[in-house]
Amino acid sequence: MTAAPDPLTTTAAPPTTAELTSRFERAFGRLPDGVWQAPGRVNLIGEHTDYNEGFVLPFAIDKTARVAVGVRADSTIRLLSTYGDQGMFTTDVQGLDASAAKGWTKYPLGVMWALQQRGIAVPGLDLLLDSNVPLGAGLSSSHAIECAVVSALNELTGAGLAAEEMVLATQQAENDFVGAPTGIMDQSASLRGSKDHAVFLDCRDQSVRLVPFETEPAGLVMLVIDTKVSHSHADGGYASRRASCELGAEVLGVKALRDVQVADLEEASGLLDELTFRRVRHVVTENDRVLQTVDLLASEGPASIGALLDASHVSMRDDFEISCPELDLAVDTSRMHGAIGARMTGGGFGGAAIALTPVGSEQQVRNAVEQAFSDAGFKAPDIFTVAPAAGAMRIS
Ligand code: ADP
Ligand code: MG
Repeated sequence: MTAAPDPLTTTAAPPTTAELTSRFERAFGRLPDGVWQAPGRVNLIGEHTDYNEGFVLPFAIDKTARVAVGVRADSTIRLLSTYGDQGMFTTDVQGLDASAAKGWTKYPLGVMWALQQRGIAVPGLDLLLDSNVPLGAGLSSSHAIECAVVSALNELTGAGLAAEEMVLATQQAENDFVGAPTGIMDQSASLRGSKDHAVFLDCRDQSVRLVPFETEPAGLVMLVIDTKVSHSHADGGYASRRASCELGAEVLGVKALRDVQVADLEEASGLLDELTFRRVRHVVTENDRVLQTVDLLASEGPASIGALLDASHVSMRDDFEISCPELDLAVDTSRMHGAIGARMTGGGFGGAAIALTPVGSEQQVRNAVEQAFSDAGFKAPDIFTVAPAAGAMRIS
């Protein structure tokens, strides 16, 4: 769409904070009041469990959105991104309107709107965004932007919201301003994540516990294999999976599938039709796998969770049926060439797979996956590493 250099390639070094600040100064003719950053996230395990009031285990990654922000004396808002060639977007903080927001500007504007809904007076401001979270790869580049912005505004307005409240504000921004029916996993990881930890989130009561997840000392790297595939039936597939889960819960007489245990599955198989039973079995076993992963990370460390990642993938492939040939190939090839566990991550029907890999096998896995994709006639995947990193913070 644009010939401008792409700062979102996974190899390009992002500009330093000083470079970002001087870019802000060139664009807006003044210095910013500060720079805030918020990471993207990878879901380690716990897929399609969130809307069943279950458990998820994402971690904040070492790829971040950063915003340089300067408060203005008037009510004008000026927004600029280093990405692409979209130019400056100007609007007014009074009467924020989703239909007037263009492209990425709906994320910062949505956050401002959600804060206004909470009675917080949002000032006019100048904002420069720079992000190296790959777009649309399932790493939640949109929440990275929102969480950076909400962190900045929380401080600049003196609102003093707790992390839990910022999570809900960004959810409201996504749901009611952007129009994406997302839960709270992504922003919980981005706002509440911590270096060398995963974020164990109970989607029923929204409580969070940080679980040690240190890949480097264990001699492991987490590879992300972005298949670059986005299947057109993703939306319909998501809706029908949700519907199956709701049906399953209704027939089994529980509030949500969270309330069904692995030991209940045998009885459930007699009560549900074959398809609904498999959908239910995925959710119930996946919740159990999250709990097992949390226990194993604490007791034995990341080298012990490979089999759970593998089992999660098989369950999504066979029971929930949300994988695709590219994801299966990425997972199988990684496993065959040295990864100790691999699974698709995210909503499915495309997007990315993760492969927990011994450092010494990283290159072999990369080469094998690239070769396998080429042999299969698939689009070349984008392969990169992520590390469990800090959550949102002020950096300047
Ligand atoms: P995901 O959150 O999984 O990456 P989304 O579709 O929710 O995918 O969000 C991607 C959108 O976020 C893009 O279409 C774009 O509007 C916006 N976006 C992400 N990063 C940037 C950036 N650096 N500059 C401008 N827009 C961005
Ligand atoms: Mg998103």
